[in-house]
Amino acid sequence: MPIRCKRCRAALSEIYIPYARLNLCPDCFLKFYTSKVKRTVEEFKMFRDDDVVGVAVSGGKDSMALLHALKYGFPKLSLKALHVNLGIANYSAHCQAKVEKLVESLDVELHIFDLQKEIGITIGDFKRTPFKDKLCSVCGTIKRHVFEELAIRAKVKVLATGHNLDDIVAIMFNNFLYGQWEQLVRLKPVLPPLAEGMAYKVKPLIKCPENENLLYCLYGNVPFREMECPFSSGTGVKKKARIIETAAGDNPYFKHQLLNRFLELIPLLERNKPQKSFKTCQICGFPSLDQICAYCKRLSLVWRAMGKA
Ligand code: SF4
Ligand code: ZN
Repeated sequence: MPIRCKRCRAALSEIYIPYARLNLCPDCFLKFYTSKVKRTVEEFKMFRDDDVVGVAVSGGKDSMALLHALKYGFPKLSLKALHVNLGIANYSAHCQAKVEKLVESLDVELHIFDLQKEIGITIGDFKRTPFKDKLCSVCGTIKRHVFEELAIRAKVKVLATGHNLDDIVAIMFNNFLYGQWEQLVRLKPVLPPLAEGMAYKVKPLIKCPENENLLYCLYGNVPFREMECPFSSGTGVKKKARIIETAAGDNPYFKHQLLNRFLELIPLLERNKPQKSFKTCQICGFPSLDQICAYCKRLSLVWRAMGKA
């Protein structure tokens, strides 16, 4: 027998939210999702209505859903989309085209950093370096730095990223297993700027499971990439945390419980965190634990390998 939506009680339900035992129709699901994102932003005081907020958009379902939901959830907010073109054949052009389509439909300003045009490299060029088997790791370092740079260029006070609930609990679990306490603290919902002039980092999708981000894109007509990165190894941190998926199969609230316990632990972890003093990278001027930051070290490696250094 068809089930009616539990919110409007008029339309037929198409979506079941297991941890909330909610049957929803598409319209009520879209409202459910945007109000969850809104409540998360408010709960952790991620930004105010008069802030300039940048959204790091890769073209994937999470960041595209985030940009769209923020635009509808906070209509007065000044939003800017930030995108890094990684120069990966076909894939990067495809991602950028999806981002351009979304920002045009939302009327949001877009700032792009094209690795090839701006610094003369692509992620594939790292195949010529000792990072050849760790392209995702080097890609992460490059993106983190470039998004900081884009945030400064776009003059945004807050940088929102599309980390979802599944990402957070999987990374948290791995950091916990390997005792990486400092990285664990970096998963908190709001990170203050590393230096003056840099942006706060916020994670408004911290309570959104990745399948809800996908459903939001599908039911909300939000464009997102339909290609896999050719360098994706499929052995991401989520695959390693299969034990979480197994437990979540028996208890749909399991990931939320993990997240909630982690949020309670943060103040304790922060109090016991060793104080590290940041220097200034001698090349780019960004905060760094060494004389030369990880980004500049990797750039000089790839330039050298390409005969450009
Ligand atoms: Fe970068 Fe790896 Fe993602 Fe490709 S799969 S975009 S190389 S992090
Ligand atoms: Zn540097």
